[in-house]
Amino acid sequence: MSYAVDHTEPHIHAADRPLFMWRQKALTMLLRIVLIFALPVVALDIFTMIETRQPMPTLFYVGAYLWVAVITFVSRIPYILRVGTLIGIMFLVGSIEASLYGLRPPSLLFMQASIILSILFFDVAGLIVVGTWVAAMIAFSFFFVKQAYQSILVTIDIAILILLTAMSSALILNLMKTMLHSLHRAEHLAVEAQHALHQAFHDALTGLYNRRYLDDQLSQLLARTQADSTPVSLLLLDIDYFKQFNDTYGHAAGDAVLRAVGVILASNTTETDIAARWGGEEFVVVLPGLGVERAVERAEQLRVAVQQLALMYSGQQLGMITVSIGVATFPTHGNTVTEGLYAADSALYAAKRNGRDQIVVAGTGGARPVRTTSVVRAESVAH
Ligand code: GH3
Ligand code: MG
Ligand code: MG
Repeated sequence: MSYAVDHTEPHIHAADRPLFMWRQKALTMLLRIVLIFALPVVALDIFTMIETRQPMPTLFYVGAYLWVAVITFVSRIPYILRVGTLIGIMFLVGSIEASLYGLRPPSLLFMQASIILSILFFDVAGLIVVGTWVAAMIAFSFFFVKQAYQSILVTIDIAILILLTAMSSALILNLMKTMLHSLHRAEHLAVEAQHALHQAFHDALTGLYNRRYLDDQLSQLLARTQADSTPVSLLLLDIDYFKQFNDTYGHAAGDAVLRAVGVILASNTTETDIAARWGGEEFVVVLPGLGVERAVERAEQLRVAVQQLALMYSGQQLGMITVSIGVATFPTHGNTVTEGLYAADSALYAAKRNGRDQIVVAGTGGARPVRTTSVVRAESVAH
C-alpha cells in the first residue's frame, strides 16, 4: 500500500504564458495555411521549371515547401525555427520576386507579411531586423532592377506602407497582450479562489475534509435523509496511545502516521461517504445509507487496514498502530448532529475502556460517564 498523499499546489502560469500559447497555436495554423496555399503554386512552378529548364527560383520554393512540411508536423522542432521559417519564407519570397520582377504588388505583399509576422512573434526586435532587410531590398530593387518603379513617389509610398503595416500590427499585438493579461489575471484569481476554497474545507496535514466541512455537510445530509428515513452511520476513530507513539518516535513520525491513516480512510470510502479529520488524532467517517451492521463491517475493514500498516520513517520501522472506533447510526442513536456525535463518542470511550483496538456500537458498551475530558480533547485540537 502506498501512503503518498497528494498535496499538489495549483500551478500558476508564468506571466506571459497565455500569449506564448496563443502564438504557438497561431504559428502552427499559419504554417498549415502556407502549406495548403503554396501547394498549387509550387506544382505550377515545377511544370514551368521543366519547360524552361531554369532551376531557380523553383528549387528554392520546393526546398522551402518541404522544410515547412517537416517543421509543421514534427512537434519537437524548436519554436524559434518555426517562426524563423515562416518569416524567412515570406521575406525571401518577397525579395526574390522583387529582385526578379521589381517591386510589384505580390512582392510587396510578402514583405508586408514578413513585417506583420515578425512583430507578432518577436515584437519590436523582429520588426527592426526584418524592417531593415526590407528597406535594403527596396533600395536594391530601386537602384539595380530595371523594372522597379523608378520614382521617388513610389518609394515614399512603399515607406508609408511599411510604416502603417508595422504600426497597425504593433497596435493589434498590444491589444492582444492587454486582453491576454486580463485573462491571465482572471485565471490566476480563479486558481487562488479555488485554492482558498480547498483550504477552507480540508485538513492541511491529511488532505481529508475538516471539521467545519463535516459539520456543515452532516447537518444538510440529516435534513435530507430524515424526510425519507434513510439511515446514516457515523464512525468516530481515535488512534490508540498516540501520545506515547509521539513520545517514542517523535512528532514528525506521528504526522506521518496521521497522513497514512488519512490515506487509508480516503481509499476506503466511496464518493458519497465523508472522511474527515475531526481534530488531533481523531477522525470521523460519515456513511450515508448504511445501517448499524454494514457500518460495523466498514469500521472493521478500517480497523484491520490501520493495524496492518507497516510504516517506515527516516529508515526506522515504526511500531504497530491501532484504532478504537465508536459507531452510531441516525436515527437509531440520535436525530441531530450533536446527538449522533455524542453517541459515537460514548461508544468510542467504551472501546477505549474495554482495552482499545476494537469497535463498539452506541448503546451497547455501557453508559458513558458525564462528559469531561473527551469533549475538551476534541474541541481543543480543532483547527
Ligand atoms: P488514547 O488511546 O486514550 O486515545 O490515548 P492517546 O495517547 O492517543 O490520547 P491523548 O488524547 O492522551 O493524546 C493524543 C495525542 O495526539 C497527543 C498529541 O500529541 C497527539 N496529536 C494531536 N494532534 C497531533 C498532530 O497533528 N500531530 C502529531 N504528531 N500528534 C498529534
Ligand atoms: Mg483522541
Ligand atoms: Mg488517542
